[in-house]
Amino acid sequence: MTLINTLQQTMQKETIDFLYFDEPLTVAYLTGFESEPHERVVAVLVFKDKVWMIVPELEKQSAKAAADCDFILSYQDEVSPWSLLKDALQNEADTIKRVGVDEDSLVVSRYHALNDVFKEASFTNATPLIQNLRVIKQPEEISIMKEAGELADKALEIGMASLKTGIAEEEVVALIEYEIKKYGVEKMSFPTMVLFGDHAASPHGAPGSRKLQPNDWVLFDLGVVYNGYTSDMTRTVVYGKADEEKKAIYKVVKEAQEKAQSFIKPGVLAGDIDRTARRHIEEAGYGDYFTHRLGHGLGRSVHEYPNIAPGVELEIRENMCFSIEPGVYIDGYLGVRVEDCIYVTSEGARPFTHTTKELIELPVKN
Ligand code: MN
Ligand code: MN
Repeated sequence: MTLINTLQQTMQKETIDFLYFDEPLTVAYLTGFESEPHERVVAVLVFKDKVWMIVPELEKQSAKAAADCDFILSYQDEVSPWSLLKDALQNEADTIKRVGVDEDSLVVSRYHALNDVFKEASFTNATPLIQNLRVIKQPEEISIMKEAGELADKALEIGMASLKTGIAEEEVVALIEYEIKKYGVEKMSFPTMVLFGDHAASPHGAPGSRKLQPNDWVLFDLGVVYNGYTSDMTRTVVYGKADEEKKAIYKVVKEAQEKAQSFIKPGVLAGDIDRTARRHIEEAGYGDYFTHRLGHGLGRSVHEYPNIAPGVELEIRENMCFSIEPGVYIDGYLGVRVEDCIYVTSEGARPFTHTTKELIELPVKN
């Protein structure tokens, strides 16, 4: 059964007559058609018994080749896709009484346009519906994500090998992104993060011109997009020798990550996974320095549903994919994070990335 069939079954159950999705990754997920439409409309329209797409004329051929749908409504740039849709539907529009839209991504102007097409309909939020579908990965999706994970391991290896005294953070970023694209990587899943020393104390810091010095700690947070799917990993390593105090902090973070990872199995709650890691860090006295959620879902996008955060009562199920990324950030001193993304099997969590989590001390190179 296709994903669209599954959606149509849910529509039946929830008495929804029509679903509209235009978030590009959702469109790709449902139809296989990947695009970067920018301000143009690329949408998938799910009726109870058919699927249409709306695409710009210039994308029509590639949409046709990629997507399995009953009708492609294409439009020239000077024409409103909404008036074309109205014309194509004619009286059918008035038979549609309940429309589902993804409230998390739908632009307000498009919401108004849809209201104008489906004048008789009430609108309902279909965000949970599409999230619940996307959150359980198909075996084919997991096997692509394994490859994306291997490429992240490779990118990290490239980054570590490039470290030498005096190199700037942004140079390491450029080298990683240039080299990894030779392996079939489409793009990075987010701007690669390489942070030296206490720069890493900001969890979302930006790489700059800071130059590497012996015994600096280096935080790498990176991932790739491969065949439409993302990876995401973090390792914090030492360029030279680690002092004992920082080593002890690293050990706490690594143990928190491992504890959370081995706690995972179908049936546990997302909030309890977070608590497993957080409690370990709190007991070591660093609770105030772990300032973000433990993890996030990933798949076609690098941050997606679900949240692995305090109090989240979502029950974990087989084939969910998410990150486990505890960290300790002490301003002016150190930032440590260890992150692997995992998929859930009946036996527990399996990571997509395999670089060791033992503290790596790299040789100083001049
Ligand atoms: Mn992450
Ligand atoms: Mn990350």
